[in-house]
Amino acid sequence: MNRLIVVGAGPIGLHAALQATINGFHVTVLERGDIGAAIRRWPHVKLFTPFSMNSTEAGRAAAAETAPLPHGNELLTGDAYVRRYLSPLAKSEQLRKQIQTSTELITVSRNMYGKKDAVGKPERSMSPFRLLVRRRDGSETVMESEVLFDCTGFTARHRSVGIGGIPCPGERNCLTDADFEIAAPQSQHGSSDHTVVIGSGYSAATSICVMQDSSLRVTWITRGARDVPIAPVADDRLPERRALTDQANSLALHPDSSIHWCPGAQIESMEHNSGQYRLNVSFANGHRQTLVCDRIVANSGFRPDSRPFEELQIHRCYATEGPIKLAAHLLGETADDCLNQTGGAVELLHNPEPNFYILGAASYGRDSRFLLRNGLEQIEQLFDQIPSPMKALA
Ligand SMILES: Cc1cc2nc3c(=O)[nH]c(=O)nc-3n(C[C@H](O)[C@H](O)[C@H](O)COP(=O)(O)OP(=O)(O)OC[C@H]3O[C@@H](n4cnc5c(N)ncnc54)[C@H](O)[C@@H]3O)c2cc1C
Repeated sequence: MNRLIVVGAGPIGLHAALQATINGFHVTVLERGDIGAAIRRWPHVKLFTPFSMNSTEAGRAAAAETAPLPHGNELLTGDAYVRRYLSPLAKSEQLRKQIQTSTELITVSRNMYGKKDAVGKPERSMSPFRLLVRRRDGSETVMESEVLFDCTGFTARHRSVGIGGIPCPGERNCLTDADFEIAAPQSQHGSSDHTVVIGSGYSAATSICVMQDSSLRVTWITRGARDVPIAPVADDRLPERRALTDQANSLALHPDSSIHWCPGAQIESMEHNSGQYRLNVSFANGHRQTLVCDRIVANSGFRPDSRPFEELQIHRCYATEGPIKLAAHLLGETADDCLNQTGGAVELLHNPEPNFYILGAASYGRDSRFLLRNGLEQIEQLFDQIPSPMKALA
């Protein structure tokens, strides 16, 4: 049992691969894009957790072989985190030969067992995982491993902006994947007279703060009818997150700001004609309004892509799509602040498919409280428990 494949070269995939290498596994990392591909989509956004929380001692030691490291208390942008830490980590002696970029996992099963065979039985582990993989040139190949980690994150598929989280009429024709990204500074995007930002999470807050620097007219639509668009975390211990919340909320509430906040709005339908969008929105009091704009920034959140793994025996939560044991633990936690929630015991990472683990943001499914620190702890806990080739030799 010494071949281990990690799917995804984000921060968690890279740290998992490093730990697996240290434990004597023969490791391969499959990444469909480039190192840190998901984080490269928001290069200008500052992480609100300091570098010390987003790295490990082993990771820092490996990355330091090829580049000077950030200080522990630095708050890096997405770009700096990839450039100054993840890329050097990927180039380290331990990992550089293990990573295959532009290589996508299409689907995976077992050599001798299909989904319905040997249900929940440990003997499934006697047959290696069989992965269908697509390479950069479009060619397909099969790979095998005894252990498999899903570190594919949760940003592969966006959520819809329509009522109830399904697309509203017209949404699928009007919006492309690019419209669901956090807004970049104006200079990178060309001009637009009126932008509508949709969402009430930190991504939408970031888009709002980025856009207020320009002379844009911005309408900010949120579904909830709270006093402020972004619910502040009580006594927030992450100053950068608190500052983002305060700034976005005060922009929404200040009468002289260029941001017009539209709370309690539901998007009924949308159209796109001659470069302009028409959004039909409704409110709880029965009022209806049509907004005309040149650009939509839909920060409605993401959901994991479990499709490559659907031939395996994985028990997922019907609410969050995360693996059921961890999801049930997280749903039972009352803490709103992700700093206060606990990852739970290593048993929560087990599911019916032997030697298969969902780690990192993917393990939280639609639960947006994931912090890198939680994923790094999962890796540490897991390698304390799983039998490794190194321990077998000792
Ligand atoms: C805007 C934003 C700001 C955030 N700020 C913070 C913060 O300040 N602090 C914090 O702790 N957390 C933060 N997070 C949350 C979290 O830490 C990040 O989302 C982080 O990127 C999760 O790491 P990951 O390795 O689990 O997944 P990802 O970084 O999403 O990596 C997954 C990788 O898997 C690859 N992949 C997906 N499917 C396949 C496939 N089929 N085959 C091969 N490869 C595949 C992807 O291309 C990607 O490279 C933030 C998230 C966002 C969106």
